[in-house]
Amino acid sequence: MDYIDPHIHMVSRITDDYETLARMGCVAVSEPAFWAGFDRGSVDGFRDYFRQLTEVEPRRAAQYGIAHYTWLCINAKEAENVELSREVIAMIPEFLDRPNVLGIGEIGLNKNTRNEATVFLEHVELAVTHDQSILIHTPHLEDKYQGTRMILDMLCADSRINRSRVLVDHVEEHTIQAVLDEGFWAGMTLYPVTKCTPARAADMVERYGPERLMVNSAGDWGPSKPTAVPDFIFEMRQRGHSEALIRQVVYDNPLAFFGQSHHFDFEPRR
Ligand SMILES: [Zn+2]
Repeated sequence: MDYIDPHIHMVSRITDDYETLARMGCVAVSEPAFWAGFDRGSVDGFRDYFRQLTEVEPRRAAQYGIAHYTWLCINAKEAENVELSREVIAMIPEFLDRPNVLGIGEIGLNKNTRNEATVFLEHVELAVTHDQSILIHTPHLEDKYQGTRMILDMLCADSRINRSRVLVDHVEEHTIQAVLDEGFWAGMTLYPVTKCTPARAADMVERYGPERLMVNSAGDWGPSKPTAVPDFIFEMRQRGHSEALIRQVVYDNPLAFFGQSHHFDFEPRR
């Protein structure tokens, strides 16, 4: 089955992974900007990273017939440095016209601090003034519920935001309902260690239905599995779900969400 991985960090994966993804049916990926495993020292470090996301990765993906899209921001972890964050946010418009840029992301919270919230809101301002979609990272483990609530409250307080152009990622059983109820898209991240398993994701599709729901691998440089979406497809088939339902979650929904971005030019193959 053709599928799209809406959240995967290919800069930290090897080229063999692109080949594996292609063999498993992956036709497009979207790669949010994130933490590199260390704090970058200057705005130029981000400028080079954004060149990698907009110039290098699309070419690497294209060798395997995979369309590569990206999202730009300074992530929540480095957002603790407000001064650097403001320099990065001021620089991002240099890249917004690049052909594979879908919007601003993954912005959000990490430890739910005041500085993170400040930088989150300044990213939202950037997205609104440049008519960009938004991809949101919610914090892990014990900070997730409170962080998700803080994020939803900040977004819902701003009437300029079109909620159908916002994807709230890394939802779990205790946060998915609020995200969907407020009219946002929700992403479930399939991870071997923390976050969600394919079985838990399938449970959530059964409970909440497929509307505005996606699954992703969030594959990165840490323990993660870039082929986690095919694992979800397998789990859903084992449970006897229809191909149409599975396809809605792993293909149609990402297409519909991304289709709202100015640069999304993906042509489904027939
Ligand atoms: Zn991520």
